Amino acid sequence: MTPVIRAIVDTAALRHNLGRVRHLAPRSRVLAVIKANAYGHGIVPTAVALAGADGFAVARLEEGIALRAAGLRHRVVLLEGVFSAEQLRQAADHDFEIMVHEPEQLALLEAHRGDRPFRVWFKIDTGMNRLGFKPPQVAAALSRLGACDAVAKPLTLVTHLASADARDGASTNAQLALFDRLVEGIPGERSIANSAGLIGFEHARADWVRPGLMLYGVSPLQDRDAGSLGLRPAMTLVTCVIAVKQVDAGELVGYGGDWTATRPTRLAIAAAGYGDGYPRNTASGTAVLIGAHRASLVGRVSMDMIAIDATDLPRVTVGDPVILWGPGVPVEDVARAAGTIPYELICGVSQRVHLDVR
Ligand SMILES: *Cc1c(COP(=O)(O)O)cnc(C)c1O
Repeated sequence: MTPVIRAIVDTAALRHNLGRVRHLAPRSRVLAVIKANAYGHGIVPTAVALAGADGFAVARLEEGIALRAAGLRHRVVLLEGVFSAEQLRQAADHDFEIMVHEPEQLALLEAHRGDRPFRVWFKIDTGMNRLGFKPPQVAAALSRLGACDAVAKPLTLVTHLASADARDGASTNAQLALFDRLVEGIPGERSIANSAGLIGFEHARADWVRPGLMLYGVSPLQDRDAGSLGLRPAMTLVTCVIAVKQVDAGELVGYGGDWTATRPTRLAIAAAGYGDGYPRNTASGTAVLIGAHRASLVGRVSMDMIAIDATDLPRVTVGDPVILWGPGVPVEDVARAAGTIPYELICGVSQRVHLDVR
């Protein structure tokens, strides 16, 4: 039985996009970011497809454990580190590397007794004000880590950019300058850039880049599409038509009667809704593909269904495939039409969507 709605993952596209990262940052090593179930693409199959990366980054311990359980021996970095002695022991058991961004984590390391020291990624907050030691705390934290037997030397020095996707590079340049000043003369590799940072700021590429979004073939920049960056979308969210009906001009369609037919309209009802991760806020007029034809969403997105104006299509029948995003329907466009960002859409594909990795 073919599932009604599927997220088809193109592993050749994942590999291609890793190649684009290598091309853009030829002197950097690549820590492929595969948190949040590889942005919805399936963490283990994505890691297998991206086995050519120099390491993987995940947000949570369980995500790293899934990689080890699948037999992957790569370097694995926990981007948020650990929050308890128990988690630190587990990180040691699985040979994970940890981000250290918080004084509490220094105390955990100082109390740890183990056979091997941890590789530590030391995070400095240069302006995002999320994770990391603030500039005045850096020297003291570094001297504690330097004195700690549970920590391998040298550390990798890290910061994260808050606005690398913005057209105006002023705040990114300020972060880069502050980072340079704070790490000057300190031994160890440097890691700064996410996808937007590595595309837009040569200086941010440093020793390790940390791409996420672009590996999945999605543009991280507001004013560039994926194709112009040489990226190929890895995910196609596809469902099918489950009903076709005709309505007259003046009839209202969907919950709340949000959309009114302005002409005799042939509607295709497709099996996808916010219960699948297709956002409820998506505006009428947003493109979908029925077979090879463009058509537009009309009315409000329901939990399990959407309505599509298929009047201009040569024909439409129950069972026709409907592409909600993927090649030909950029997820960036759907996100814009829903008032959100593509990250949220690809991460938010729900459990009942069958992941079909090819
Ligand atoms: C998620 C994350 C990344 C990847 O960001 P993209 O914008 O998806 O490339 C890089 N670094 C850190 C610390 C992250 O949390």
